[in-house]
Amino acid sequence: MPKPKDRSRSKRKVAVKVPGGKTKIIAKKKIHQDKQRCAICKSVLQATHSDKKMSKSEKRPERKFGGHLCHKCLDKVITQSTRLNEGIVAIDDIEIRFRPYVKKLSN
Ligand SMILES: [Zn+2]
Repeated sequence: MPKPKDRSRSKRKVAVKVPGGKTKIIAKKKIHQDKQRCAICKSVLQATHSDKKMSKSEKRPERKFGGHLCHKCLDKVITQSTRLNEGIVAIDDIEIRFRPYVKKLSN
């Protein structure tokens, strides 16, 4: 019976030839994760990288909610938070998926 850590299906099995001449499945490498997605609309985020050698500022856009929301959703959030600050709309009128981000922006 394989060890619990080796039963995981998130890791790739690699067949390697051992010195005895047989082929064994010994090395297991982690499958690369999917691309980062927007927290609201689930579209793939541009200009995001998971390379460990890159610096933090190179991995995601340097703006509010960069690497978390796409530019379209951020545009809506900023618009709604401005309207909330001006008193044009109430917090209950804003779509529920935008509310946490609107609340963080508006003060
Ligand atoms: Zn989005």
